[in-house]
Amino acid sequence: MEDKKKISFFSKNETTCPVCNYSFKREEMLTGRGRLIAKDITPELRRTYEENTKFGEVHPLAYFITVCPACWYASPQRDFNNISPNNIDLVSNLIEYRRKIIQEIFAPIIIDFEQERNLYSGAASYILSISCYSFFPPKESPTIKKGISSLRAAWLFGDMAAKVLKENKKELYERFLKIQEIMYEKARNYYNSAYDLALKGKEKLDGVDLGPDIDKNYGYDGFIYIMNYLNYKMSYKEEDIVKKAEIYREIKKTIGKIFGIGKASKEKPGPLLNIVRDLYDEVSSHLQEIEESVNLEIEE
Ligand SMILES: [Zn+2]
Repeated sequence: MEDKKKISFFSKNETTCPVCNYSFKREEMLTGRGRLIAKDITPELRRTYEENTKFGEVHPLAYFITVCPACWYASPQRDFNNISPNNIDLVSNLIEYRRKIIQEIFAPIIIDFEQERNLYSGAASYILSISCYSFFPPKESPTIKKGISSLRAAWLFGDMAAKVLKENKKELYERFLKIQEIMYEKARNYYNSAYDLALKGKEKLDGVDLGPDIDKNYGYDGFIYIMNYLNYKMSYKEEDIVKKAEIYREIKKTIGKIFGIGKASKEKPGPLLNIVRDLYDEVSSHLQEIEESVNLEIEE
């Protein structure tokens, strides 16, 4: 495979791990020369890319989280030194725990952060990042950052499930899909907690790159949209139809307010509007179905 085109390089500058003091060279992705040809965004605001025959599989998300190859402490590069100094011992004591959760999720696939990143180690890096953000101070807004890492992990677990299915690895396929579902649920919970914490002034959202993907920061509007999208996506778990209707009403109210939907003259233009309107319409029609079925029951 000597002919294979390079998609990444190891940076000259060394990064020193604040937890174990190990120094290493961070792997960065090369983006030029047609390596990444952007396609549409999905309803989850994930950027998609054209398949690239020249460079093969490229996973831009896989490089975003810096992981110490020695102790598996992990966070985005910009936050790497922002862990609470008081918690360094705690993180240091959890090395074996971090290795064990990754092992359980990925076995028999070997995860090695000394090697070049791939889809699997990329997904693992987000799981580690969620775990390590628990040791960051509130001023670093760890809750929404855990939410974004959870959502990206869900995306990558979906990609991995598709990949292992092609290789006919049924057991891994089932496992990855299950973890994807757990990650979506975590994302939903962290987004909602982050919203409450922001309202109470405990963890701010401004100044945070809210992504949710790495190609663009959709800001607060994108955050509100994703929170409501996830509340809708996970609402299948709510069996009580009255509670489900309440979830739908709340979603309509919140996104209606932020984006001015439902009041034609006040609709807020912008790159998100069409995607948000699709969610609004879908939730509205489900709500209507519930309301009609409940009315029928009353009439009977
Ligand atoms: Zn380390």
